[in-house]
Amino acid sequence: MTELIYLQDTYLSTLEARAQELICDDFGEALVLDKTIFYPQGGGQPSDSGEIVCDTFVFEVSKVRLTNDGLVMHYGEFSSGGWVEGLAVELKIDAVKRLVHAKVHSAGHLLDCAVSSLGLNQLSPTKGFHFPEGPYVEYEGILEDSSSWIAPLEKKINELVLQDLEIQGYLLSAEQAANQGVWAPEGKSARVVSFDGFQGCGCGGTHVSSTKEIGELIIRKIKVKKGVTRIAYALK
Ligand SMILES: [Zn+2]
Repeated sequence: MTELIYLQDTYLSTLEARAQELICDDFGEALVLDKTIFYPQGGGQPSDSGEIVCDTFVFEVSKVRLTNDGLVMHYGEFSSGGWVEGLAVELKIDAVKRLVHAKVHSAGHLLDCAVSSLGLNQLSPTKGFHFPEGPYVEYEGILEDSSSWIAPLEKKINELVLQDLEIQGYLLSAEQAANQGVWAPEGKSARVVSFDGFQGCGCGGTHVSSTKEIGELIIRKIKVKKGVTRIAYALK
């Protein structure tokens, strides 16, 4: 298992770790470390990129994935040197990209808060796409006269931004998660994110620390199709 340090601190952009294994699979070469700050793509959020360096090699990380066994695979290539097992390495993520991803992802949660604040309880969030290009959240349920909700939603979500609500992440044991009805990977602890004043939800993504940090948001489009409402948003 790789220790997921990014769950503890969104803003940590460098870390000392130990290189444990070089794995080659269908996706290419991947380094496995004892711990990582690289976010593996998942939950609608893209992976981080950056580099893993030591005196012996520089490995450029372009894609990151989490296996079912809890290993973080850092895919990429050596730009200098080559693999030696067990070396102490330094991880450096693209901090600008990380912050954009954390803002876009946090904005998706804030959209849920705005939907709930407006009493649109017929909508239940099912899926988020938090890539910087065209992010959206999909809800099970229908929003009648959907385009008339663009302005009220945009007003509400930006009110919540200005309220500078604190965003907190914490861990629950598998048992606590089950008791509270929070999603967790089977048999594992759950990471919960909560926006001050709103119900928490299980999420393994990276979040900024308060809503003001997300900045002003735009509601781009609301589309209703086959019982699903998709609300597209963007950072301004
Ligand atoms: Zn999240």
